Amino acid sequence: MPIYAYQAKKPEASCEKCKDGFDLRQPLSDPALEICPWCGSPVARVPSLAAIGFSQSGLDDRAKAAGFSKLSRIGKGEYERNF
Ligand SMILES: [Zn+2]
Repeated sequence: MPIYAYQAKKPEASCEKCKDGFDLRQPLSDPALEICPWCGSPVARVPSLAAIGFSQSGLDDRAKAAGFSKLSRIGKGEYERNF
């Protein structure tokens, strides 16, 4: 399930949770939240850098486990041949 980040549209009328933004794990089929589940203030979905960073580091770990260093050496060899 993807993680979405939300932030209050009106920080002056929001609670501690949504004022600085919060992350919410939602199924893809769920519609975007329009209000904060804690205070009811309007919120907007924003790109979640934390979620993207998390998934990339997870991908790196999986790539290393699958022998990514071997693949990168092959890639470098190909680059040198082409050059
Ligand atoms: Zn709130």
